[in-house]
Amino acid sequence: MKTEETVLEIDLNALERNIHYLKSRLKPTTWFLAVVKASSYGNNSVAIATHIQKKKLANYFAVAYTSEGIALREAGITLPILVLHPQPIHFDDIVKYNLEPTLYSKRITDLFLEYGKNHNLNKYLVHLKCNTGLNRLGFNIGEVDEVLDLLKNNSVVEVKTAYSHLAASEDLAEREFTENQIKTFIAFQEKITSALPYKVIYHQCNTSGILNYPQAQFDMVRCGIGMYGFANDVVLQKNLTPIMALKSVISQIHTLQVGDSLGYNRGYIADHITKTATIPVGHADGINRIYGKGKGFVFINGQKAPIIGNVCMDMILVEVTDIACEEGDEVIVFDKEHTAEVLAESAGTISYELITSMAHRIRRVYILK
Ligand SMILES: *Cc1c(COP(=O)(O)O)cnc(C)c1O
Repeated sequence: MKTEETVLEIDLNALERNIHYLKSRLKPTTWFLAVVKASSYGNNSVAIATHIQKKKLANYFAVAYTSEGIALREAGITLPILVLHPQPIHFDDIVKYNLEPTLYSKRITDLFLEYGKNHNLNKYLVHLKCNTGLNRLGFNIGEVDEVLDLLKNNSVVEVKTAYSHLAASEDLAEREFTENQIKTFIAFQEKITSALPYKVIYHQCNTSGILNYPQAQFDMVRCGIGMYGFANDVVLQKNLTPIMALKSVISQIHTLQVGDSLGYNRGYIADHITKTATIPVGHADGINRIYGKGKGFVFINGQKAPIIGNVCMDMILVEVTDIACEEGDEVIVFDKEHTAEVLAESAGTISYELITSMAHRIRRVYILK
């Protein structure tokens, strides 16, 4: 699809294929939780979740924050929604919108049990977060017995699942660390299973966990970046297709003479006659300043054009001296071939950061056969 403005093309067919591939790496009985936080990694969480729900591609959704879960419920999402990182101030909304909070600390557990008692909650579904080495959110193994004592004869909540998160599942040099996380999580599971009188679902793997540690798939996996087409691995990448393409257009072409400068703070000074193209996408759209000064690049008529000078709020300036192109031509910032991962690497960052930075003002266009 040729574009005449900056658009983010989202390929829902590729999303579906990616999910099918990821599921092919799992036992048929393992549940699939689709992580749709942060606008589904910069896409649009309502569009992505609606498609996943309609095609019955997932058993569960997860969002980071309560507000993200509310947006999904308001758009008609009825699958269960796990909130990874709730705060006590959100309890009213959580219950009102039938969202399922993660209890990750003694404090939030006490507060939720008290809230539940005061609001007559009965077997409200919650999730326990176990810390196995990421040291970000979750109970430590030494405190879980105390928490289980609170929960085991309590009819206010029911623990639907218990989970932990891997710190370095994409980094095979950290295999030993990861295997220890898995062992620790199994120790958590033994404690939880023997304390609670009902079945609890266990999950630990993110995308790279699915791909690298199939022995740790347990009852469910939580998949984000893989659905959106990134494997965090050059070999496995061939099985997945990035679902988003950021396309734009050349607004204007300039020719700089030797000594002329380009853009704010004269970020580029021409040492040769330089043909430049101005593109309507800038740091307010998610192309951070770090991509400027020759680090990042776009593709025009199949050729690589470096981003020169400083990235502006609403524009980038690229060199097209040796590229046959004219005003109105299409610009590929990233797509399936020229991936967001490679562009992110040019600035020392990762695909996750680049794609989740895509501004809401960029029009989303969906591809669906
Ligand atoms: C974001 C997140 C995921 C998804 O990770 P990917 O690497 O994108 O698959 C899974 N679990 C938790 C707790 C997360 O915060």
